[in-house]
Order: sequence, then structure tokens, then C-alpha cells
Amino acid sequence: MSVTKESLEKWLELFGDLIETNKAYLSDLDTPIGDGDHGNNMARGMVAVKETLASKQPEDIVGVFKITAMSLISKVGGASGPLYGTAFLEMAKASAKTDDLAELMELALAGIKKRGGAEAGDKTMVDVWTVLVPKLKDNSLTQADIDAAVESTKDMVAKKGRASYLGERSVGHLDPGAVSSGYLFTALLEAGVM
Ligand code: ADP
Ligand code: MG
Ligand code: MG
Repeated sequence: MSVTKESLEKWLELFGDLIETNKAYLSDLDTPIGDGDHGNNMARGMVAVKETLASKQPEDIVGVFKITAMSLISKVGGASGPLYGTAFLEMAKASAKTDDLAELMELALAGIKKRGGAEAGDKTMVDVWTVLVPKLKDNSLTQADIDAAVESTKDMVAKKGRASYLGERSVGHLDPGAVSSGYLFTALLEAGVM
């Protein structure tokens, strides 16, 4: 499926809305297995994305992806800022050559894995992306897939990020970055990019 400047901006707007609405929930999820800031980090970043897109008015998808990446890298902080930033930076680079969203998201996932060193099963956002990117490829993504991928992190032992300091005690908690990544895919469905 190809992404247009309009559908990309709609996707980011809806993602920002979901982050804003669930800001406290995301930070609450980050409290028992992290430092309680994930919702605030992401909300700060998505406000910056919105403001910078409005002021710079990029003319194509490359520009939209680039501004998103730069805003997230400079404003989110923590572990998740550079990871989401890398995802959008990879898409910015590749979108000069392709507007196929599944292809772009596949490159984004490769960037996240390379940057953070996490694999599927480590209880991070990578678990959600790994399950859902192939669903974009065959154009079959549903909200039930998203919910299942997010939920799967609950029983995992964290191997990366702050939650990994807790080892077995991280079991029984959803990974906050997996939940925010779930919103990214939900926003895709809602934006009708797929
Ligand atoms: P911090 O942990 O620095 O406070 P956040 O709370 O914003 O940063 O983000 C935490 C989320 O980042 C985790 O829930 C997890 O999904 C993700 N994360 C942390 N480390 C990694 C990693 N190495 N690879 C992929 N995702 C990671
Ligand atoms: Mg945190
Ligand atoms: Mg932090």
C-alpha cells in the first residue's frame, strides 16, 4: 500500500492523539518496570512533531518523515526517543525511492533492532513490530492482531532497557513501548493508510 503525504500526516495526527489521550496510562505502565516517564516522553515528542509539521509545511513524504524523526530524536529522550527516531529516519531515507508503507515499516523495524539490539521475545516495542510488519506486507492487519501482539509482552522476561534490571520480576507487566507501538499501528488502521 502506498502512503501519500495526506495519509501520512493523518496517521501522525491520530498517533499523536492516541499518545496524548493515553499519556498517563503509558507512564503508569512504565512505573513498576521502568522510571514512569514513557507517556510524558512520547507526548512531548508528538507535540513537537505536530508543531514542527505545522510551521515547516514539508512538501513531500520525505520531508514529513524527516521532521518526525528529528522531532522525536530531539524531544522524546530516554531509550524510546532514539528508537522511534531511528524508525522514522529509516523511513525518511527510503521514502525517496518508495512509498510502499509495508516496505518502509520493514526498514524501520530493521533500524530499531540495529539501534537497540533487541530481538523478538525481549519484551520491547520490537515484539509488536515483529508480529505486525508482516501483516502490513500481506495487507491483513486488524486491531485484534495489534491487541494480541501488545498483550504477548506481558508474560515475557525483559532482556533490554530498564525493565531488564528487574529480570523475572518484569513478568506480569505489559511493556510500555510495546503499548505505544500498538497505538502507532492502530493509528495506521484508523488513518486508512492500509
Ligand atoms: P527510558 O526507559 O529510557 O525511560 P522510555 O520509558 O521512554 O525510556 O521507553 C521505554 C521503552 O523503550 C520500553 O518499554 C521498550 O519498549 C523500549 N526499549 C527500551 N530499550 C529498548 C531496546 N534496546 N530495544 C527496543 N526497545 C527498547
Ligand atoms: Mg521510562
Ligand atoms: Mg526515562
